[in-house]
Amino acid sequence: TTVSMDTIVSLAKRRGFVFPSSEIYGGWSAFWDYGPVGVEMKKNIKKAWWHDVVQIRHDVVGIDAATIMHPLVWKASGHLENFNDLMVDCRNCKQRFRADHLPGYEENKRAGKENPIEGLSCPNCGSKDLTPPRPFNTMFKTFVGPVENEAAVAYLRPETAQAIFVQFSNVLMTSRKKLPFGIAQIGRAYRNEITPGNFIFRSREFEQMELEYFVRPGEDDKWYDYWRNFAIDWFVSLGVSRERLRLKEHAKEDLSHYSKATTDLEYLYPFGWNELWGIANRTDYDLKAHMAVSGQQLTYYDEETKSHIVPYVIEPSLGVDRSFLVFLLDAYHEEPDNEGTRVVLRFHPRIAPVKVAVLPLSRKEPLIKIAWEIRDRLADVYVTDYDETGSIGRRYRRQDEIGTPYCVTVDFQTLEDNAVTIRDRDTMQQDRVSISELESVLKDKLGF
Ligand code: ATP
Repeated sequence: TTVSMDTIVSLAKRRGFVFPSSEIYGGWSAFWDYGPVGVEMKKNIKKAWWHDVVQIRHDVVGIDAATIMHPLVWKASGHLENFNDLMVDCRNCKQRFRADHLPGYEENKRAGKENPIEGLSCPNCGSKDLTPPRPFNTMFKTFVGPVENEAAVAYLRPETAQAIFVQFSNVLMTSRKKLPFGIAQIGRAYRNEITPGNFIFRSREFEQMELEYFVRPGEDDKWYDYWRNFAIDWFVSLGVSRERLRLKEHAKEDLSHYSKATTDLEYLYPFGWNELWGIANRTDYDLKAHMAVSGQQLTYYDEETKSHIVPYVIEPSLGVDRSFLVFLLDAYHEEPDNEGTRVVLRFHPRIAPVKVAVLPLSRKEPLIKIAWEIRDRLADVYVTDYDETGSIGRRYRRQDEIGTPYCVTVDFQTLEDNAVTIRDRDTMQQDRVSISELESVLKDKLGF
């Protein structure tokens, strides 16, 4: 089903996935809070990524670094100089835009026009009265220590990658990995975006899941290909529609200052194809830059050639929040049923925020007691909901809307046969299962 962003934003709020930040104060632009259901789902996304990219691989280890780093990190990485967006104001409606978000901008640039916004118009009001583009550094500034002067200026990290380069030697020494190997990190990043929007697609505080995969120079093309394919396969393995994913290679002239090649894994959002996961061949740019500024060795001793080399690096960089949005959008289905429409989120079991809900058919004492016992046992293993309010049909609908794969219903027959009903979210089929076998049946169905 193709769903509008408005529908997803309101479902997300109604069911406790995502709330506008500081809502009682009127909201706070481009910041979002995850609710009781959302926090579980977000954890599941990070857990799945960490499991598949770090835990099961012998060639990848992780770190968890501070989010405010030495200011020289950002000088070395080029962020102080280059982490700029071009900003354009419309003189007519006073809206502000990122130049490269204006329709026609890329074409102008590719045509080599001296003024890349020549002939372009404001996407809001259509006026052609635009200011010339001016650079705007999107790193958030703060002060470290009690004195607020230039020497105390520091930055909130705009990406997690740099900490990996800076800790390269420490990680190499302690993990004793051989090339090729990777260092991964999940954590917050901050960007003072000029035009945030589309819900959690582009916000000013978000989380990234980044891998820096170090390889021998000359083997970089091969590994670049490998991680591009990994990216698409990963989302497909978690149930995202293959036909809404595509790999888009950047044109050489659009590459960042550090990149030899970049591919975006794109998703077909309601607002069109756009980036989900960036995979870049960063060459030896970062390690060399940090060596130059710090004066420290960030090299790898190659036993084969008995020499120190600076590895090349392939960087798959994925947003947690953007993944969250994709899982929500892709899972959303509306189906006709006897009450009108059934809204169901068909999440992969690994992603689903709640794995199972226990629903006593009546609030009579013997049923409730058994239902709580089952809930408590399951909750030790899975995120488990318990709900005894409203009609059973309404309760199923509620679980469908948060994508709970299985509902366990305790009914009067349970008192006689010690069995319960398991209802499948997608087929709505109901199976009778004895209480003693419930956990193993659920384990088989969920796959873990
Ligand atoms: P853009 O050009 O759209 O601003 P980018 O190419 O600078 O994005 P990267 O630096 O490649 O983005 O970031 C890697 C990943 O981090 C992105 O693919 C995305 O999933 C996520 N990401 C980046 N910026 C944001 C943001 N403002 N909000 C949410 N996620 C983000």
